[in-house]
Amino acid sequence: MNNSMSNNTPFSALGLDQTLLQAVADAGYQQPTAIQAKAIPMALTGRDLMASAQTGTGKTASFTLPILQRLSQMRASQNIRALVLVPTRELAIQVLASFQTYGAHTSLKTTAVYGGVDMEQQLLTLQAGVDVLVATPGRLMDMLNRRHVRLDGLRILVLDEADRMLDLGFRDDIAQIMTSVPGKRQNLLFSATFSKEIKQLAHDFMRHPVKIELENPNSAANTVSQSFYPVDQPDKPEILSYLIHGGRWPKVLVFVRTKKAANKVADLLIEDGINAQAIHSDKNQYQRIRTLEDFKDNYFDVLVATDVAARGLDIEQLPLVVNYDLPKVPQDYVHRIGRTGRAGQKGRAISLVNPEEKKLLATIGQLINKSLTIEPLPYFEHGEVREAVINEPPAQSRKKNSRVKPKKRQPSGSSRSAVSKSSRKR
Ligand code: AMP
Repeated sequence: MNNSMSNNTPFSALGLDQTLLQAVADAGYQQPTAIQAKAIPMALTGRDLMASAQTGTGKTASFTLPILQRLSQMRASQNIRALVLVPTRELAIQVLASFQTYGAHTSLKTTAVYGGVDMEQQLLTLQAGVDVLVATPGRLMDMLNRRHVRLDGLRILVLDEADRMLDLGFRDDIAQIMTSVPGKRQNLLFSATFSKEIKQLAHDFMRHPVKIELENPNSAANTVSQSFYPVDQPDKPEILSYLIHGGRWPKVLVFVRTKKAANKVADLLIEDGINAQAIHSDKNQYQRIRTLEDFKDNYFDVLVATDVAARGLDIEQLPLVVNYDLPKVPQDYVHRIGRTGRAGQKGRAISLVNPEEKKLLATIGQLINKSLTIEPLPYFEHGEVREAVINEPPAQSRKKNSRVKPKKRQPSGSSRSAVSKSSRKR
């Protein structure tokens, strides 16, 4: 995890009961992260809380643990007593998994509802009675409108990745959902940033929230090593393939801006002998979960993803993230590179920057308060960087330097692919 990890408070000092401490120990966590150390004791008091924390900081446990504890201490009821709103189905699935992990020694029931899958099964689970509901706003609105779900017994409401929910246009759905929940409740809001819109949202629905701001909300940006290479747009597939082969990168998450690009880049990598798959919102829910699970289990090496599809993905020990193109929204850059360097691991982010993207690079630099410089492409020997040889965009430098000559694309089996494939570490 990034620098938000360092912290000296033990879990036992946070006010969590033995059952939860046991679950935390079972998960193998030795110390709370910074956000956990600050948010858990505060959330246990029942006060409203807004915390700046992005994925990768351990934020999920900082609301799941207090919710489980507070609900366990309340009288049992048939009602949904905690609702966690999340921007995407992937995140819904992950948050559900956290409740199941940390709540393993409690009798509380949690379920998740999200779009893209049949509503029937979700309704059946809901009707059987749940204590905690994790939901994407769209699917929940659907259910509320059809009167399939009631929230009048709600005691705790969480907005997770609130900034992202606003980016995705869920502002009205959230406002609407607020009209279905009791006024007396605890509110917890987690957001990568406290933008004007987030402050307004907090103002509209929270009561005197305690604010927790970690020293640097963009902390991943400080702990993940970041490189920026100059690449003309048409050369990006070849350079990406060159880097993956040359660096013998074993597992890479590649970000692209569009669904079309995700498919195209995955296909081009496959042509070059690289085991790649794409994930984006045109794939159905089953395919997305399956692809993600296969990636986690190392069935293939390169996952090409759009921002929305990758939002909230928790892939353990992901050493490297590549920005095939820079995101239009600078905050997405922080989210993207936050996929690596998690849970104390070292992380690396590499971005391919075409001349038009230099402006975007400058805005990202402003956001993370760093001067980001474009470096020459590396030259590899046996998977190690030997020296940097390209000082200019590859198209020109290739003519000058034969060593990094990524050849014109050929069907797989081209000489470079064949050589680099055989030398790739598995
Ligand atoms: P999150 O920011 O909630 O998505 O969590 C990021 C990753 O950190 C997940 O894989 C968690 O399982 C892991 N994690 C959460 N809390 C801790 C902790 N205290 N120690 C080590 N890893 C943790």
